Amino acid sequence: MLFIYIKRIFIGFYSLLKGFKVTFKNLLKKPVTLNYPVVKQPMKERFRGMVDLYPDKCVICYQCIKICPTAALDLGHKTLEDNKTKNITKFTFNAELCCFCGLCDEICPTEAIFLNQMYEVSYFDHKDLIKIDLMSPEKYKNVDGGTS
Ligand code: SF4
Ligand code: SF4
Repeated sequence: MLFIYIKRIFIGFYSLLKGFKVTFKNLLKKPVTLNYPVVKQPMKERFRGMVDLYPDKCVICYQCIKICPTAALDLGHKTLEDNKTKNITKFTFNAELCCFCGLCDEICPTEAIFLNQMYEVSYFDHKDLIKIDLMSPEKYKNVDGGTS
């Protein structure tokens, strides 16, 4: 009986030392975790965040519209009286439909449309999610982590 009691004390003490060994081994090491959300992980260059647009670069070729497998983009334009100049009347993005495949980004001949680095995306109102105005410079202003 006494032997079992001593054995249990020994095992408990041994487990404690084993635990402390791990603690002391990592005590002065650089943490592998981040103090999120105060510190945020920078995304890799190829990360696919929200669909974004440089309106000035768009040449209204509709290639992104045609290739989008989920019809998440909606583009409209009007031709001015000179029959040459085209102006965008609407360019919206439905984040609910998007599967973040990046095909719009790949096909765009002028690099006007791209997937940005945003990964904290939440909206209070559903309608804000399904019709994001890509022409607006403040399109992601109210989104968590939004920069524009
Ligand atoms: S990332 Fe894919 S699904 Fe989303 S808008 Fe672009 S082409 Fe469409
Ligand atoms: S593919 Fe690029 S240039 Fe063509 S309509 Fe889309 S965003 Fe504009």
